[in-house]
Amino acid sequence: MRSSSSTKSSPGLRAESIRSDSIDIIHTDTAAVNGDEFRPSFSDVVVVGAGPSGLMLADNLVRFGIKVGILDNRPDRTSTGRADGIQPKTIETLRQMRLADPVLRKGVRIYDIAFWRSTFKETLHRTGREIHYPPVVDLLDPYILLVHQGMIESLFVNDLKERGVKVERNTAFVDYENAPGRSCPLEVTCKANVDQARRSLATKYLVGCDGAHSQVRKCLPDSRPVGSSYDAIWGVLDGQLDTDFPDIWSKVIVYSEESGSVLIIPRERNLTRLYIELKPDTKDGQAQEEHTKEFVMRRAQEIMGPYRLRWRTVEWFGRYQIGQRVATRFSDEANRVFIAGDASHTHSPKAAQGMNTGMHDSWNLAWKLNFAVRGLAKSSLLATYEQERKKIAEDLINFDYEHANAFAVGDSEALAQNFKTNVAFISGVGATYGYNVLNVPTKQLSLGNIKPGCLLPPAKVTRFIDSNPVDIQNDIPALGQFRIYFFVHDVHEAKPFLDSICTLHQSSSSFVGRVTSAGNASYTLQPPLAAPHDEFVRPERYTPTSGIFTYSLVTDMPRNDVEIADLPPVLRDSRWTFYLDDIPKMDTRKQKCIDKWLGGLSRQEVAIVNVRPDGYVGAVRRWPQGSRENGMSAVQWMDDYYESFLLDA
Ligand SMILES: Cc1cc2nc3c(=O)[nH]c(=O)nc-3n(C[C@H](O)[C@H](O)[C@H](O)COP(=O)(O)OP(=O)(O)OC[C@H]3O[C@@H](n4cnc5c(N)ncnc54)[C@H](O)[C@@H]3O)c2cc1C
Repeated sequence: MRSSSSTKSSPGLRAESIRSDSIDIIHTDTAAVNGDEFRPSFSDVVVVGAGPSGLMLADNLVRFGIKVGILDNRPDRTSTGRADGIQPKTIETLRQMRLADPVLRKGVRIYDIAFWRSTFKETLHRTGREIHYPPVVDLLDPYILLVHQGMIESLFVNDLKERGVKVERNTAFVDYENAPGRSCPLEVTCKANVDQARRSLATKYLVGCDGAHSQVRKCLPDSRPVGSSYDAIWGVLDGQLDTDFPDIWSKVIVYSEESGSVLIIPRERNLTRLYIELKPDTKDGQAQEEHTKEFVMRRAQEIMGPYRLRWRTVEWFGRYQIGQRVATRFSDEANRVFIAGDASHTHSPKAAQGMNTGMHDSWNLAWKLNFAVRGLAKSSLLATYEQERKKIAEDLINFDYEHANAFAVGDSEALAQNFKTNVAFISGVGATYGYNVLNVPTKQLSLGNIKPGCLLPPAKVTRFIDSNPVDIQNDIPALGQFRIYFFVHDVHEAKPFLDSICTLHQSSSSFVGRVTSAGNASYTLQPPLAAPHDEFVRPERYTPTSGIFTYSLVTDMPRNDVEIADLPPVLRDSRWTFYLDDIPKMDTRKQKCIDKWLGGLSRQEVAIVNVRPDGYVGAVRRWPQGSRENGMSAVQWMDDYYESFLLDA
């Protein structure tokens, strides 16, 4: 539910022109009907589950200005246990949301993995050490960040609170019915609080982020989890250790031929997490109920011997059995009901993927739902959610299967090899999508590192307006908009090209122009929801002309040869996204952005890169010169691309 005192900002609107009370004009608030027992309310999207996936989804939707109801059957966030490893791609996503700082300040960073082994003949010894994310993957943050799942949930809960939205706790989703013909065609039933009072919610879209036993999935036609479980049971212990084991601040895989494996993960607050294998076929093979905390500790001590291992404190103890499953459907036929996160896929926790992948399911879905709620999406757009995220879930299960097998047999070479082969995927940046309406193959051979369906590699540029060195892939905040990057060597020579595109994109004679008008009208009625701290960063700087597109110009010409006044009006207004490609020495690979992303541009060439709101490359093309004719061809090319999944009215 939203408080009426929240402030808002919309594309092209100045903060002082925003009326903070206009929210009530747009959304119908909860209304009591039939007394207290039956209180229908209306939302654009109902999100079931306030774990990492549900909160990532809800927070993005709320930021975009969508009215969201967030239900969770728990009284509070995750307090102990469960996920703790944040992968590089998730750090990048949190940076794009301007939410990374609190966790970067508090988390522990893992840069390496050590392998230890004991056999019947040899005592425990280190067999190798590897860099966790070797330079073969191009990462701005080449480490795993260890922070507790509850801290990630708090990031989103606090951000929602600052925007006047809170999770409806102690409220369990029961089922939904289709109500065709209504403006909110789904009727959701839930039970709330100790008295289990039934409530009904009318909504346009429903998303189940309600975990591995998802009730939403059970209600979704033809969706069932398919896969299998392993026999092995694992114990997990979070606590402060007293030990003389030397690698306690690295990620360590310890294998004992006699007693099984331990995975050691350093954590925030001086904690260490141990995953301890409870082999079903060893001398202590026992029923699950006998795997007490004390039993699991003893097993860890056996595996880690002769090193001392005692616990000063234990914060959490749990047991789990690995199950690898992917749901047969991630959405219904009409693309009104979706599932994300553990509701749609489960796997072993040891590769630290579940929470990360779940949040990226939501990251993928949020902007698509924003366009759909605003009436700006064709059905082809929402259909890409299942196409794209089911593929990632299946890729993950395939990787996880090999990873868990190598773990089970304690083969450190196979594990190291499995890591090397999959390192880009594990980091999150190697999660790539196939071709579809959003990711279109490039006609000309692209020689650089960007490819449709892939993420942008990191690159450093100078922001022209304030001379700040910035990471271009993160500099434009994620406001649900596409990014259109123009690359030119010489702004003056490319002026006819840029002029013709910018002029047509501001008029109704191009599809992009018409969708901009429709989008701006929608954002004026239903603006993004700002938090008080947005006052400082001014997100509206990045959407001065369109809520649907941020325009950006990248050039490697000398600073003194160009002024903002030389640019066509749309780019002049987009002054915060005018970049100079002049600081290769600061790049991860010491490359210029133009060289890294595009494999260079010849003297007169111009290029356009369309980047989706979730940071994936959509469509890329180059033209031999920056002429007016080529500008017209670029307008047609972009119209064809955007018209295949957006609606302009
Ligand atoms: C020991 C362990 C370690 C792990 N380590 C990692 C790691 O390091 N990195 C990583 O990425 N992943 C890790 N994972 C996996 C990770 O915890 C999950 O993948 C992640 O929590 C999934 O998030 P989610 O939001 O999809 O689901 P959940 O976190 O399960 O959240 C679902 C929410 O929905 C609520 N809910 C359920 N049913 C209903 C209902 N009917 N109505 C309303 N609300 C409902 C639940 O109460 C819960 O709050 C680990 C898991 C375990 C068990």
